Amino acid sequence: MSKASLRSLVRRLRGTGRPQPRPDTRSKPRGPTAKLADYVHLHRALLAPNPAHLHPQLLKAAAGGPIEEVLPGIFALRVLSDSALRMFREELTCLEEWATKHRVELSRPNSMNRFGVILDELGYTPLLDWLRTQHLSPLCARLFPEVGEGRMDQHHGFVVDYQMGGDRDLGFHVDDAEVTLNLCLGGGFEGGELYFEGRRCGGHRQMQAREHERVSYVHQPGVGILHAGKHRHGAWPIHSGRRQNLILWLRASTWRAEDGNDDWTCQPWCGDHPTHGAQPMRSQPSKRIGSSDSTTSAIGVGHEAPRPGSGPT
Ligand SMILES: [Zn+2]
Repeated sequence: MSKASLRSLVRRLRGTGRPQPRPDTRSKPRGPTAKLADYVHLHRALLAPNPAHLHPQLLKAAAGGPIEEVLPGIFALRVLSDSALRMFREELTCLEEWATKHRVELSRPNSMNRFGVILDELGYTPLLDWLRTQHLSPLCARLFPEVGEGRMDQHHGFVVDYQMGGDRDLGFHVDDAEVTLNLCLGGGFEGGELYFEGRRCGGHRQMQAREHERVSYVHQPGVGILHAGKHRHGAWPIHSGRRQNLILWLRASTWRAEDGNDDWTCQPWCGDHPTHGAQPMRSQPSKRIGSSDSTTSAIGVGHEAPRPGSGPT
């Protein structure tokens, strides 16, 4: 017997010559390696209420100072201080990198946006509670006393994210809010203007807008707008870059529960309320302006996205 045959015989007898199972090289789906609660904030200081986080324009406006009405029923002001704005943008970048690294899927912020993050899930509830009760509620009482009477006792705070390959635009809708704060966090982008088509109660939501109600707003980095939640609106597609906005829906739940304050009772603020004289334009439902064809679309209501397992999406 040759030396090679002898070595082979010895290996077989020792069992080391058995064919070894091949490693499974097929890729398997890998789950997250962390959960959102594990995220360590880059700027923990931003989680706590602190007047230094707020811009003097907001502090003055909340105390009764001037505020600019940039379009009918739409008010603009700087909300966060420059340092808080910078920290918040850095935090979002840090969170995004962490979520990618750990394959953590962030909750969609509402029923209409797929990308972004819910701020209350990130520990910002104390800051947002304070912002709502101490600063925004007084401002709402002054600017929009007819909806909520400044009794804003709930909020839904989230960041929306628009870019090529992600969400590019936002369909025509109203918010599940008495008043909405929409703060542009910046980023270089083109397009993505907001368009508005007048305030309507639930019963008149599908009615056509009047010409004077059709207005557009171009976002300015660092500037927030306040508008009534039932002011019908949408966002044009972004053409390049990336736009992130902080949205805060402000709700007055006890006010909503009172007689006549439900969504379906027409109020004088509705553009089709009888006090405005002209008959509602019933013949055509409101159109999605700028669509490439003449098809009409029903106007939806943006809601908080259901949590996993809590119901249909
Ligand atoms: Zn109405």
